[in-house]
This record gives sequence, C-alpha cells and structure tokens, in this order.
Amino acid sequence: MVRPRLEERIAAQRMQREALSRRRVRRTVTRRDGVGAEVDGRWLVDFCGNDYLGLAQHFVVVDALQDAAARHGSGGIASHLVSGHHAVHAALERELADWLQVPAALLFGSGFMANVAVLQSLLGDDDVCVQDRLNHASLVDAARLAGCRLRRYPHGDVEGAIRQLRALPESAAVLATDGVFSMDGDIAPLRELALLARAQHALLYVDDAHGAGVLGPEGRGSVAAAGLDVAQVPLRLVTLGKALGSHGAAVCGSADLVQHLAETARPYIYTTAMPPAQAAAALAAVQLARREQWRRDKLQESIAHFRAGARQRGLPLLPSETPIQPLLCGDDRAALAMSRALEERGFWVAAIRPPTVPEGRARLRITLGAGHERMQIDALLQALEDAAEQAGLRGAAATA
Ligand SMILES: *Cc1c(COP(=O)(O)O)cnc(C)c1O
Repeated sequence: MVRPRLEERIAAQRMQREALSRRRVRRTVTRRDGVGAEVDGRWLVDFCGNDYLGLAQHFVVVDALQDAAARHGSGGIASHLVSGHHAVHAALERELADWLQVPAALLFGSGFMANVAVLQSLLGDDDVCVQDRLNHASLVDAARLAGCRLRRYPHGDVEGAIRQLRALPESAAVLATDGVFSMDGDIAPLRELALLARAQHALLYVDDAHGAGVLGPEGRGSVAAAGLDVAQVPLRLVTLGKALGSHGAAVCGSADLVQHLAETARPYIYTTAMPPAQAAAALAAVQLARREQWRRDKLQESIAHFRAGARQRGLPLLPSETPIQPLLCGDDRAALAMSRALEERGFWVAAIRPPTVPEGRARLRITLGAGHERMQIDALLQALEDAAEQAGLRGAAATA
C-alpha cells in the first residue's frame, strides 16, 4: 500500500481541467457603476450578475448600510443565540415574514449555509430527500451532510418525484426544489409538486434564490406566483444577495419549523450573526423591492425584448421567462469562445461549464436586470449574433 500524494493528485486534476478547458479563473472588478463593471482597466456591461432589480448600489440601500455601520459597527459580534442577535436582525426577519405572508423568518449568513441548515436539522440517516436533478449544488451537498438518502428525479419530472417518494414510504421525507433553476432559468412545477408532497406526506422545501424579488405580486417569489402559501410550502429559502442586492439569506415559513431550525441547525448555532449593518441594507432593499413594481415591469419588458430579438436572430436560447436567459453552446470551448468574443465587444457574460451544468450543456448564462437599458440589450443581441455566427451556433434548435 502506498499512500496517494495529494500534491500529485491535485496537479493531475489541474492538468485535466486544463485539457478540457475547465480551468476557473477569477476576474477582479475594480469599480462598479450600475450594470457597468471595470475589469482589467476596461468597462464592461455586466450581463451575468444576479442584481436583478438593480438594488445593490441603490443609494437608499447603501445609506442604510452606512448609517447602521456608524451606529452598530461593522461586525456581527457573536452568534445569534449568544449575544449577536440585534434589533435590526429582528426587524429584517419581521419584514421578510410580512412580505412573504408567512409566520416566521430566520436569517443565515448565506443561502448555501441555510440549505445545509434546513436539511441537516430536518433529516437523519433513515430519512430521504427527493430532489430535482438540476437543483443547486448547495441542496445536493446539504442532503449529503444530513446523512439522509438522496434521490434525484429528472428535471421537472413530477412523475419521477412520485416514484422516488413511493419507493420509500416509511422514511420521513423532504421534497426539495429550486423555485427558479439557477442555470436554466425555468420555473419548477410547484403546484404539482405541492399536491404530490401533500399526498405523500413529504415536506416541500423551495429554494427561491432567483425567484424572490422577481416573481409574483410584490416580488414575493415563485411560491406566491404559483398561488401557494405556507400551508403547501412550509419552508422556503430567500437569498438576500441576488435580487435584494445585499448578502445573506433567510429561511421563511411555519413558526414551529423556523423555531426548530433556530434551536437545532448547526450552521445557525455555530456561526457569527451577519453584521447588523448588512441586515439594515437588506431591510431597505426588501422595502424597495416590495414598493417599486416598476423594476419588475422593466425587467419583464427587457426579458420579452431580449427573447424576441434572440428568436429573430436564430439564437439557441433555452426556454425561460425569468431574468436568467441561457444560450446553449454545448461544447465548453464554444462557450468560452463566445464569452471571449462578447468581452471584446464590451459585454461580460461568463461561460458556464460542467460540473456546474451537465456534460455537453455548456452555455452562456445571460442575466438581465432592471438596470439594463434597451440600447445595451440591442447591442448585446448584435454581438451575440456575430459571435454565434462565428461559432456556428445560429439556427441550432434550442432544446430543453
Ligand atoms: C445562489 C444560490 C444559493 C446560494 O445562496 P448564497 O446566498 O449565494 O450562498 C442557493 N440556491 C440557489 C438556487 C442559488 O442560486
């Protein structure tokens, strides 16, 4: 027996990523101005961020952050259960619960941590978590950390979900799905899943990282847009770092479940509270998101305009009605080439490659926001047409 050398394994893995065009590099932003981002000394129009409502730099949000930092400092001080729970946190939790029309909300440092917390505090070895195959990585890892059985069904396939639940009738079960799928932009069949969860006595958990702020009345998200409430969806995740332009997350839903999380979830108990200043920024952002419907209206107009333009140009967009508009490239190299060509024209659209998406499904994940102007979208469409022409992607049928 020879102990494997980690350094050698790491080097081999890096070479393999290199050979497959799968190295991942960070780009450093030096300045931001709305949808504009300065990268390597050049201004690009950002079409791959998640600031869907354009709130991340809103003066009211930034003022709230600065004002709260001046009063309460920059740190979180301690965990919520020790001495870190602040009145600003409580106010944000109340605002979130009021907005989403649920009894309770509980803050987390990030959506990733919140997902780990939910599955870990609800499920153990004998239980099962049934998930859509395209769920976010944090939900998959959360189930693994919970130690429960993880059963995945084909994307959007309610029948598949039924089969998975029926196969384990004696296990306590959570049915977990993204509300809006993060790399595809399509919306889960929540009404059907809710019926199924009820019939199978499973708890339906919806990760609405990309629906919150964007979909439904007052931007209450995919659950509200589907006409569902806490009776059908006892817990849902809202992240504060996407449409709400801040950072962190909240699990929202039934009072009993939220209380259970607060007392038992390890990623809640053993971590420092988010800084009150950050909670103040998120609170201001939620209030703006609720009130300023025009942001969602403008976003919807941009989505419709972009899709119509892409269709005219024969661009292989995936079917999506949300701000996430993926253009399927298939091959990793094609996706990278497209991304580079767009950058030369002044647009920032990152190439998304496996393992973030399945093999052969590399894509440009184009995202639209309320901050994008019509002219910028038209210029992007023209650049996409030219880049797709060069890459031989035009006219290819977009398949789901
Ligand atoms: C971004 C995202 C998360 C993680 O949220 P963070 O606050 O960024 O950690 C969880 N689920 C989905 C579907 C996401 O897109």
